[in-house]
Amino acid sequence: MSILGIKLNVGFMEKELAKQSGARWYDDEKTWYLPLTDELELVADWIPKELLVYENKGIERIFMEVRSGYPCFKCKKPMDILQPFPKPPRNLEHTQPGEYCDNTWDKPKSYAEFAERLGINMDYRKTSMIDKPYAIHVCPHCGSVQGDFFIFEDKDCRLPVKIAFFARHDLKNDTWTIEE
Ligand SMILES: [Zn+2]
Repeated sequence: MSILGIKLNVGFMEKELAKQSGARWYDDEKTWYLPLTDELELVADWIPKELLVYENKGIERIFMEVRSGYPCFKCKKPMDILQPFPKPPRNLEHTQPGEYCDNTWDKPKSYAEFAERLGINMDYRKTSMIDKPYAIHVCPHCGSVQGDFFIFEDKDCRLPVKIAFFARHDLKNDTWTIEE
């Protein structure tokens, strides 16, 4: 995960005290921050983005695969799906030993737009399962939403891989690109 910690407002005169209290200086961003602890890391997705300090100048790299032949749960026709492999997985509950494909995190609207560019049918919407909208696969044949949980649980990420690549997510501008 590319989050370093939580931003702190430390006055110049307070910097020694802040350092002794566990604050760290991040020169790339010219900011003080509280390093991410294990507890904070578990809730990091719910911390407002403006409070977070990211490393690597705000770029996160996620390995991705486009897999073909996922059968729509409703009409059974095949569709392409986008499988992200964030490291470490963002949703530890769904991680199997030796496998870290993890679809079940709240992917932003920009992720759905990125998938569309790859020819994968996705939408950014609410479902009956979760109250806030997220990027989700939609069957191109019948329009049915395909739950991430089922894609992950049912198929165990073993569908044939069409393309594999590293995506770069610019966290500040919320843009996605394929790494050359
Ligand atoms: Zn369908």
